[in-house]
Amino acid sequence: MGLVPTMGALHPGHASLIRAARAACSQVAVSLFVNPTQFGPNEDYARYPRSFDADCALAEREGADVLFAPPVEELYPNGPASTFVEVPELGDRLDGASRPGHFRGVATVVAKLLIAAEPDRAYFGQKDAAQVAVLRRMVADLGFAAEIVVCPIVRDPDGLAISSRNVYLSASERAQALTLSRAIGEVAMLVARGERRAGVLIAAAREVFASEPEVRVDYVEMVDWSTLLPVETAAPGTLFAVAAFVGKTRLIDNAILQ
Ligand code: AMP
Repeated sequence: MGLVPTMGALHPGHASLIRAARAACSQVAVSLFVNPTQFGPNEDYARYPRSFDADCALAEREGADVLFAPPVEELYPNGPASTFVEVPELGDRLDGASRPGHFRGVATVVAKLLIAAEPDRAYFGQKDAAQVAVLRRMVADLGFAAEIVVCPIVRDPDGLAISSRNVYLSASERAQALTLSRAIGEVAMLVARGERRAGVLIAAAREVFASEPEVRVDYVEMVDWSTLLPVETAAPGTLFAVAAFVGKTRLIDNAILQ
């Protein structure tokens, strides 16, 4: 069975995961759960977009066999006193550094889903590249049988990585948000031309951000994808990742360098 964990508000990025699962697995389960434990106290849990009926339609259209949309009390029967899964070190890097406790919530809920569904494969997007690193480590450390399958980032035609949070953006913020994919594109272009030095690549990405002062950079990092530790020199498989605030909305984007 293939499992596709999501927080709902399904879009073409989620659809690509369901399609990948459909192509490889006899049964496909999609979970819809806005997981409270991965949101910080001042984050957008309460206003996170929820669109259950449209999600059901999309999941069915893409070939899901099972939809799992539990109430919060079902996954956290003991409330905030639940048992948690922590992935040390990795869980505090990149988004984990900016969002303390975020990956503890992610690892916990994905562990619960893997225990409940016992999938052969679980599907995640490269869009959340640090999440992939954390979950790969968790699966290895806890000995889950599921294979983690990572699917490419799905983008709007102008390059913006599709995200459920893009609905928060005003028209002018939507235009500013393109700075993230422009920075990523600039770095990929420099790497294709032979540039490998982290300092040069990070500076180039920061220069793209500097051209759009309304966008507030959270991080620009070049790291080993399995440890999330900074590297000096890009190698095939190195992760180049950015996070930035556009208005109040925090967006992420990345590339796996060639
Ligand atoms: P979310 O509902 O945001 O938790 O995302 C559920 C899964 O969909 C995660 O594994 C994400 O990485 C993946 N995902 C979200 N957006 C995209 C995208 N634009 N392209 C590919 N995968 C995505």
